[in-house]
Amino acid sequence: MAKDPTRALRIEPGAKVSLKRWPTDDTFGWEKESAKAELEAVKQRLDVLQQRLAAEQRRSVLLVLQAMDAAGKDGTIRAILSGLNPAGFQVTSFKVPGGPEIDHDFLWRVHSDAPAHGRIGVFNRSHYEDVLVVRVKNLVPKSVWSRRYDHIVGFESLLADEGTTIVKCFLHVSNETQRQRLQARVDDPEKNWKFRAGDLDDRHLWPQFQAAYEHAIERTSTARAPWYIVPADRNWVRNLAVARILLHTLERIDPKLPPPDPSVTGRIVQ
Ligand code: ADP
Repeated sequence: MAKDPTRALRIEPGAKVSLKRWPTDDTFGWEKESAKAELEAVKQRLDVLQQRLAAEQRRSVLLVLQAMDAAGKDGTIRAILSGLNPAGFQVTSFKVPGGPEIDHDFLWRVHSDAPAHGRIGVFNRSHYEDVLVVRVKNLVPKSVWSRRYDHIVGFESLLADEGTTIVKCFLHVSNETQRQRLQARVDDPEKNWKFRAGDLDDRHLWPQFQAAYEHAIERTSTARAPWYIVPADRNWVRNLAVARILLHTLERIDPKLPPPDPSVTGRIVQ
């Protein structure tokens, strides 16, 4: 059995994080072809557990994906969720806040998109932007963003208390891999639409973003809402690792089918 990455990638509460020391190109000894086959097996298992979660209707799961540009948040979501029951999942992509969002606290828009009981929610970016891009680009004063780590821990603890199991993945790419992928977006007409000029501004702020990620992960990796640092230079490794982390999370909460209704058991349907 291939090494289970979920243990090795998990950041224990209080641990120091140095992203430079975390590999971006680990393969865990997996082979590409067998990893693809295993991804399909993991997805079949996810499908079964998602159905049980829906039948149980008491709890939910939230997978948070954060990453530097071009690390593959969208590709991960496509790879993991395609072929599964769309009714069981909800994906929310968080963009630059606008409209009523900017007139509320930073968690307002996030809370309303938290998954309802029975569902698995995936956040493509999240409330973490409010201590990442907001911090790096000084969008609010330090006195404001620095208080947000505690608010995030409190918010996630509230969700956990109310039945949502949270798991957070940082898709970790190297600076060189990001360069190649952004260049491909410029060069390939099929990928042009993914390129934003702002991606280059963010790329110039690479060290500041890495430092902001390190700090955010250190401050908010808790037993109930742990961070995982997922090597993301190889798409197939990234996809299988995130799928296994999600599967492990569901296996841990072990959703149960409701007991059979005695008034229904044995009835003959005419
Ligand atoms: P993505 O890069 O996720 O595929 P976009 O290209 O539309 O999607 O980029 C979304 C942008 O929104 C990112 O630059 C991200 O930093 C920004 N963003 C998301 N949430 C916030 C926030 N709370 N404050 C400021 N910017 C944000």
